[in-house]
Amino acid sequence: MKSIEEIRADFPILSKKVYNKDLVYLDNGATTQKPVHVVNKIEEGYYNTNSNIHRGVHFLSQEATEAHENARKRVQRFLNANKSEEIIFTRGTTEAINLVVSSFGDKYLKEGDEVILSEMEHHANIVPWQMLRERKGIVIKVVPMNDKQELDMDAYKRLFTDKTKFVSITHVSNVLGTVNPVKEIVKIAHEHQVPVLIDGAQAVPHLKVDVQDLDADFYVFSGHKIYGPTGIGVLYGKENWLNAMPPYQGGGEMISHVSFDKTTYNELPYKFEAGTPDYIGSTALAAALDYVEEIGLDNIAKHEHELLEYATQELNKIPGMKIYGNAQDKSGVISFLVGKIHHYDMGMLLDKQGIAVRTGHHCAQPLMQALGIEGTVRASFGMYNTKEEVDKLIAGVKRVAMMFE
Ligand code: PLP
Repeated sequence: MKSIEEIRADFPILSKKVYNKDLVYLDNGATTQKPVHVVNKIEEGYYNTNSNIHRGVHFLSQEATEAHENARKRVQRFLNANKSEEIIFTRGTTEAINLVVSSFGDKYLKEGDEVILSEMEHHANIVPWQMLRERKGIVIKVVPMNDKQELDMDAYKRLFTDKTKFVSITHVSNVLGTVNPVKEIVKIAHEHQVPVLIDGAQAVPHLKVDVQDLDADFYVFSGHKIYGPTGIGVLYGKENWLNAMPPYQGGGEMISHVSFDKTTYNELPYKFEAGTPDYIGSTALAAALDYVEEIGLDNIAKHEHELLEYATQELNKIPGMKIYGNAQDKSGVISFLVGKIHHYDMGMLLDKQGIAVRTGHHCAQPLMQALGIEGTVRASFGMYNTKEEVDKLIAGVKRVAMMFE
C-alpha cells in the first residue's frame, strides 16, 4: 500500500502555498483534488483518442467508444451492479436525481402520491421533488432525526401509507457525516413495494458500496467527489426500472429510429444518454476509481476515521465548541460552530491561515432549520489529509476563538 507521503505526491495541488502558507485542504465534501493519474487520462484522451463515440466507423471513434464503454464496465464493477447497461452516465449527482424524478415521476406518480425524503437531504434531493410537486401535486414527507442527528427509523416506518410511492434518501449526510442505514431503509421500503433512490455523493469516496447487497433501485454519485473530473456522474438503476421508465432528454444517441411520424428509443443505457456524452470524463472517472481501489476503500475509511476521531476529540476541548452530527456511524466530516462566532468569520480567518474549509448552509437549508442555525463551518477529510493538518485546523480554530474572546 502507498504511504500517505506517496499519496500526497500524486496530488500536485496539495503542495501549493496560499498566503505563503502550506495549503491545508479540508473541503473534500465540496470536491476532492485530482491525482496525476486522472489528469493524465484527460490529457491522453484529448491528445490520443479524441473522437465522437458510437457513430463512427473509423479507428479513432472505435477506440474512443471502447474506452467509454470500458469506463461503464469499470463503474459497474465499482458498484457491483449486475449489468453495465444499468450504469447511466450523467453530469453528476444532481442530474442523476433530476433524471429519476422526471422520468419515474412522469410515468408513475400522480396527485396525492407520497414521496419520503429525510431532514438531512442536500438541495439536489429536495428541489427536483418540489418541482414535481408543483407539476403533479405529489406530497413530500420527511424523516426526522434524533438528537444525535441520526435518522429516526421508527418515524420512518410510520411515514408509510398506501399512497407512498418512492423513497429518496442520502447515504451519508454532507453536513453531519451521518451514515444512514440504507440497507435497512431499502428493506423497509421494499416491504411496502416502494422503490428507493440512494444519494451516494458523500458515500462512495469513503466506503465500499455494493448496490446489489443494498438492493437499491437507484444509486447516484458524482465523479468530482471521488477524485475524478467534474461534469461526470453516475446513475445506477435496476434494469427493470430503467427499461420501464421513459427517456429523460431527447436527441441524438438515445433513439433507435426517427421519423416525423414516430420515433423509437434506443435500448439501455443509451436511452438515457441523449447527445454526445462526456467520453473523456468517463475514462478519467474510471482512472479515479482505479486509483481509489488501488489505495483501498477500507484503508481510506480507516485513515479518515482516525482523523475524524482525533479532530473531534481535540476540537471538543475548545471552549464554546459545538459539533453538529454525533452519529454512531459517521464519516470524515465535522460541522461546528464556536460560541457566537459567525461561521463565515471563522471560515475567512481560517483561510488566511491557509486552511480551506466550507462555511454556510452547505446546500441543506432544511437541515439548518431543523438544527436551528443558519450555517456551520465544515471540515471534511480525504484520503490525503494528515494528522498534522488536523493539528493546524485545531490551532487555527483556537487562534480565531482567542481573537473573538
Ligand atoms: N448530494 C449530496 C449529499 C451532496 O453532498 C452533493 C454535493 O455536495 C450533491 C448531492 C450534489 O452533487 P453535484 O453538485 O456533484 O451534482
